[in-house]
Amino acid sequence: MNILIVFAHPERHSLNGALLDVAVTTLQAQGHKVQVSDLYAMHWKASIDRADFPDIPANERLRVSSASSREFAEGGLTDDVTAEQDKLRWADTVIFQFPLWWFAMPAILKGWVDRVYACGFAYGVGEHNDRRWGDRYGEGTMTGKRAMLIVTTGGWPEHYSARGINGPIDDLLFPINHGILFYPGFTVLPPFVAYRVDRLDNAGFDVLAEQLRERMRTLATTAPIPYRQQNGGDYQIPTMELKTGLEAPGTVGFDLHVALPPPK
Ligand code: FAD
Repeated sequence: MNILIVFAHPERHSLNGALLDVAVTTLQAQGHKVQVSDLYAMHWKASIDRADFPDIPANERLRVSSASSREFAEGGLTDDVTAEQDKLRWADTVIFQFPLWWFAMPAILKGWVDRVYACGFAYGVGEHNDRRWGDRYGEGTMTGKRAMLIVTTGGWPEHYSARGINGPIDDLLFPINHGILFYPGFTVLPPFVAYRVDRLDNAGFDVLAEQLRERMRTLATTAPIPYRQQNGGDYQIPTMELKTGLEAPGTVGFDLHVALPPPK
């Protein structure tokens, strides 16, 4: 497989850097080809603005979606963005790796998504009409590709449990897993989350590294999160609300968008 890791940590000699080495080494040992976009090392421009659309006249009001759509179609996006889009086309599997900062991804990675996910590439794909909201949530440019997150947190697993004060980790990561990965068509694998890492010792690191190796070895076979496809019949048209009666009794919130596991 071709694997792209988008890595967002400012310090290569960090826990995240060490885990990146574990991931890359394990994947290469399996015969996979790996590319890493090390965003801080690349001095990635983290915010989308007028400079992203060099052909838009200075006196024209900037409307980001339409500028993005036009420049993507005409090949006018900047070289750094098109290089990342090419890496996404090349990849069979994409991994985002980052420390959890303020319950979200670091801004540099969000900026990578804002800029690389152009209109016509990651959104605005497929037919849009009164009854169809295009190819998204399970369909789109990334159909057939797998994706997953590698995340480290200072908080304890209990803090991220169903009743934990930070909120459940699957809820916090839902906007990334469902909104950023499933939306353009990726098949999304459960995340690898390393909790309570700030005072990790060597023994703790060894355990973590082995857990990550196992996830990297099983990348191709790990069962994905069974998110419901937008165009699979589970949602009312055109409101895109989940049809009633499909969920297990008592299911609310983000969990509604995860299909029931198949009967055993
Ligand atoms: P590092 O600081 O590099 O290392 C962590 C520990 O691992 C250290 O003890 C280090 O000695 C050890 N270590 C590193 N490399 C190795 C190695 N090779 N072998 C053995 N041990 C090693 N946490 C939350 O839970 N929720 C939040 O919302 C949140 N927000 C944050 C916001 C900001 C701005 C910041 C700075 C931190 C936040 N944190 C939060 C904590 C953050 O998630 C953790 O600090 C981060 O995940 C740790 O990863 P790191 O790579 O930076 O670790």
